[in-house]
Amino acid sequence: MFRLDGKVAVVTGGNGGIGLGMARGLTQAGAAVVIAARDEAKSSAAVSDLRALGTDCQAIRTDVTNEESVAALVRQTVAHFGRLDILINNAGVKIRLPVQELTLDQWHQVIDTNLTSAFMCSKAAYVHMKRAGSGKVINIGSMLSIFGAGFAPAYGASKGGIVQLTKSLAVAWARDNIQVNAVLPGWIDTELTQNTRREVQGLNDRVLSRSPAGRWGTPSDFEGIAVFLASEQSNFLTGTAIPVDGGYSSQV
Ligand code: NDP
Repeated sequence: MFRLDGKVAVVTGGNGGIGLGMARGLTQAGAAVVIAARDEAKSSAAVSDLRALGTDCQAIRTDVTNEESVAALVRQTVAHFGRLDILINNAGVKIRLPVQELTLDQWHQVIDTNLTSAFMCSKAAYVHMKRAGSGKVINIGSMLSIFGAGFAPAYGASKGGIVQLTKSLAVAWARDNIQVNAVLPGWIDTELTQNTRREVQGLNDRVLSRSPAGRWGTPSDFEGIAVFLASEQSNFLTGTAIPVDGGYSSQV
């Protein structure tokens, strides 16, 4: 149960935070993992970390907002490993500005990185999954897939959109035996939130008091859900959006 031996996974934004947590889970379950991100120093550190866990891993420098870069990522993955079974659309950015201060360029930057990238990567991966007769796509949403937030309108729109994209791909590809699900992280201690935590007074205390689990999540909280959604044990689960949030979204 829950083994991924012989499977090949691409994790966008897998060189740190939640993506690296998921990549660790997949690696420990036996999958080979490709880390797709821009910062080559961070990616090569992540690859060393993953190789120490035992399977073959590679970094492919990728900008997920660029269609040619995404095409090259999938091409090089298949050229090196011969297949692509699991895609985790995790790369993301957040700009904290109210809508009246957000520029159109900033809007596009967030939507392109968080949502359009998932469309492009999934589309590029599909042909290989269909040919193999199976595949798994895991999209990363947010609590802002559920709740509105006046401080991050583009981020909220991208994360709401990722849930609907997940359902659309799930329905479209179910007969191809490709399952598509979303994971909605709560407040997780990563680079993305470390600055926010410093800048937004009272945030740390609010997260701790509002979360039933009484703590921030960590990247290792995502190892198990990644393995489950990537494994055959989730073959009848598709189109869902699963909160991994210590109960945050269940509490009024
Ligand atoms: P990090 O900042 O640690 O990770 C973000 C990753 O995205 C980095 O690895 C970065 O790599 C990559 N990335 C950003 N832009 C691009 C790009 N254009 N091309 C390729 N890679 C890119 O944050 P998290 O781990 O927290 O975030 C991971 C995901 O989880 C995001 O989608 C985020 O929205 C989501 N999330 C996080 C929450 C949290 O509390 N931390 C809560 C809810 C959702 P590089 O810069 O090297 O390209």
